Amino acid sequence: MPQGHIARKRFGQNFLSDANIIRKIVAAIAPRPGDLLVEIGPGLGALTEPLLAASEHLHVVEIDRDLIARLKEKHDPAHLTIHEGDALKFDFGTLGSPLRVVGNLPYNISTPILFHLAGYADQVRDMTFMLQKEVVDRMVAEPDTEAYGRLSVMLQYRFNMASLFDVPPGAFRPAPKVTSAIVYLQPKPAAECVCTDEALLGRIVTAAFGQRRKTLRNTLREWLKEEDFVALGIDPQARGETLGVADYVRMVSHLSSHTHSGAM
Ligand code: SAM
Repeated sequence: MPQGHIARKRFGQNFLSDANIIRKIVAAIAPRPGDLLVEIGPGLGALTEPLLAASEHLHVVEIDRDLIARLKEKHDPAHLTIHEGDALKFDFGTLGSPLRVVGNLPYNISTPILFHLAGYADQVRDMTFMLQKEVVDRMVAEPDTEAYGRLSVMLQYRFNMASLFDVPPGAFRPAPKVTSAIVYLQPKPAAECVCTDEALLGRIVTAAFGQRRKTLRNTLREWLKEEDFVALGIDPQARGETLGVADYVRMVSHLSSHTHSGAM
């Protein structure tokens, strides 16, 4: 095991060990002195150290106490601020803005952490993450593809995203079973995030993709009647995966301006 630490599965610990890949990830992040950088899950420091070398200061959020103790031993608190605990519960709002969030994310919490961070989008400059390639493919997927779903719509509503490059299992110790990928996210300008009720957007998108094979007439019956589909110019026989983000946002605007007895 790397540096005498026994990797903990429950914390999704797969440590980067390939120097070329580490260089490539840090080059993609392109840290600069003065950046307000926060790394989720620094682990044994594979990214932390080159990030620190290129910036004046770094925040890290780590859950594993053994790893926290190592980080404390190795780094001057003037340069590395360690936040001990669960990144899912961490208030990123306390760090200020514009935040640059990075990390080789623990795979077992990748989707909830993306949703948690989406809540801070207005404070974020950009985010660069390593995730399972399958998750990155879902994030950037286009309508009418198998990978397109709730994660695609909800994140594409808030962020411009790009899958940068793949990382093979051999780049980690221990090696995970699947291929990973680096994804870059940049919040869209507030003027483009025009949904009138984001909680409702979430409920509608969850329903539309909950039963992928069913028509919108079926999955969205709680909210939309025939006349609503006509007014929106959306075919009720279509399935959720055929609609773009803008179509879901239009549904919410329509519902916000026309209240039905059955609508929530
Ligand atoms: N950055 C290191 C690297 O690239 O080698 C470690 C990456 S490892 C995939 C994930 C890291 O996230 C581990 O250090 C793990 O302890 C930490 N972690 C797991 N769950 C976490 C959570 N809920 N909050 C904060 N850190 C967490």
